[in-house]
Amino acid sequence: MRWLLKHHPIPQPIWHDVTHRMWTLKELDAVQMAELRELTTWFLAQKSITGAQGLEVTTDMKVAVAAQACLLILNLGTSYFEGWVEVILYPGAFRAKHPQPDEFGLVHSESNSLSGESWLHGPVVLAWAEVDSELFHHQVGRNVVVHEFAHKLDGLNGAMNGMPPLHRGMSRESWAAALSQAYETLRHQISSGHAPSLNPYAATNPAEFFAVLSEYFFTAPTVLHACCPAVHAQLERFYRPGDRSHAP
Ligand SMILES: [Zn+2]
Repeated sequence: MRWLLKHHPIPQPIWHDVTHRMWTLKELDAVQMAELRELTTWFLAQKSITGAQGLEVTTDMKVAVAAQACLLILNLGTSYFEGWVEVILYPGAFRAKHPQPDEFGLVHSESNSLSGESWLHGPVVLAWAEVDSELFHHQVGRNVVVHEFAHKLDGLNGAMNGMPPLHRGMSRESWAAALSQAYETLRHQISSGHAPSLNPYAATNPAEFFAVLSEYFFTAPTVLHACCPAVHAQLERFYRPGDRSHAP
């Protein structure tokens, strides 16, 4: 990592231009931003980010995607993003090509027209128009980059099922209890016609629930804390914000 940063860092003007107005990063202090720049440099060296359907991918676009992706692993480390190399950007929403996605370990954001898709051991696919619109416009609980890369963390233990590999000292029972109770509450709100306290897409299945919870955790943590404090506490233990002892 240090060699990489020393020899191939993201040039500071580009890093500053792309990140200084990104609201998802506004809570980070200078030390955290420096660490995020290192991780983003690592990401761009290790992963390919290519365009589909003729989309030309600029350095700024790559940095914007990689920096937000690396926000998830800021206190986890690069090992959490191993086992795959490819990120594909479509210009806009794209169609799923796979009629039975679950069978292939695929999870995605929308049923027909997709803004993102994440393959177990495979690529992350994103609609650039969605990524771009979320860079500078705060949408509560919405961030397609966070969503799709949260699926990657979830899939680290071999299945995208709403339970990423938990850290030592965390309890699978406590995790499952907190998330399943909130999941059932959300499903009940929807089925009974009450206003859902979270994006109803989260009620699709446990994998989507974790991905959407991660979107709230990074874009609207106070909303998540108010609605589901036990879930917020579990995600805080997993993502470790503010805990510098595990910094890569
Ligand atoms: Zn999803």
